[in-house]
Amino acid sequence: MIFLDAAATTPVRREVLEAMWPYLSGEFGNPSSHHSLGEAAATALAEARSAVAKVLNCRAGEVTFTSGGTEADNLAVKGIALARHAVDPSLNRVVISAIEHPAVEESARYLERVHGFTVDVVPVDRDGLVTVDALRAVLRPETAMVSIMYANNEIGTVQPVADLAAVAHGFGIPFHTDAVQAAGWLSLDVKALGVDALSISGHKLGAPKGSGVLFTKGRTRVEPLVHGGGQERGKRSGTENVAGAVALSTALTLSLGEQPELASRVSGLRERFVSHILQTVPGAILTGHRSQRLPSIASFCFPGTSGESVLLELERLGVVCSSGSACAAGSDAPSPVLLALGIVPEIAQTAVRFSFASTVTEAELEQAAGAVEAAVGRVRNLASPQHN
Ligand code: PLP
Repeated sequence: MIFLDAAATTPVRREVLEAMWPYLSGEFGNPSSHHSLGEAAATALAEARSAVAKVLNCRAGEVTFTSGGTEADNLAVKGIALARHAVDPSLNRVVISAIEHPAVEESARYLERVHGFTVDVVPVDRDGLVTVDALRAVLRPETAMVSIMYANNEIGTVQPVADLAAVAHGFGIPFHTDAVQAAGWLSLDVKALGVDALSISGHKLGAPKGSGVLFTKGRTRVEPLVHGGGQERGKRSGTENVAGAVALSTALTLSLGEQPELASRVSGLRERFVSHILQTVPGAILTGHRSQRLPSIASFCFPGTSGESVLLELERLGVVCSSGSACAAGSDAPSPVLLALGIVPEIAQTAVRFSFASTVTEAELEQAAGAVEAAVGRVRNLASPQHN
């Protein structure tokens, strides 16, 4: 099987498994316990926090471990907006882009539904980019925070995060970015990006599912969502997932060492894969920005098919990919991300996303491109046999 669905999840790396194993076995202590087992766990947690901080170019105290990207996004959007609203009730608006992951979009909608906020949605252009002018146009004195993703999970478009954060800061508004898909491929230097908050998920880069991080800058106030024993400096109560934190810090550290060679190798492979498909599949449309995109994502629409049928046909041919974001899988509705680019619903429902792991090879992608040509041809034949 050729696995081209790494944006959905990745297997745990051996080095990561080896680093986390002691904290699932012999060193199983609770970091809050006042005995040697607890102290060993607390030390491991502190070291993991420092290692993450090194990758993000921030202080260890600015790193909060969470249960994954969804929780990190919820904590950023709800936590920052509600903390600011508590100090100044006139701050009752949040800004998100039109192509956010549901973890951000639904957090904003929750603020609207339950706390009476207004959600301002910044449109994207046909390539999925948010421009500084588009962002500037929606900012108001009442805007409590802005959340715009670093790289999109369906089309791979990479936003000009540093420029967008600077626009928000010009209005004194904190800026969060969802870096779940960017992690492992792009720099996560929060100082260079100029962000106040940034989310990461472990399982997208070789750590287990259920591990994540939220960076929050300095004194950024965050209203906690999970109350209890006051762990994670009160931002996120609950006994810490020590093994998960060690795993995530190991995966991030490994990926930092592998960039930028990895990004350039996989970008090259992606370019060949894209050209191959555009040349051999009549009418294929590449979605997202042509160059400002993740090395690891190539998404297409194949008019005259349905994405789900192409997916099934590809799996029969030994290639596993996705018809949209993993979270939207199983629903027939066309992807809101593609609709936001101005793609009509009939074309949007023909979308197929290919996403590559760091281990992807040229031979795999050549074989996969051949399978795509065959799969799309077969689905089109079945849909309109009279044309053949
Ligand atoms: N944000 C983006 C851009 C994602 O792609 C995902 C997962 O697909 C998430 C957030 C959610 O992360 P998690 O699966 O760790 O909850």
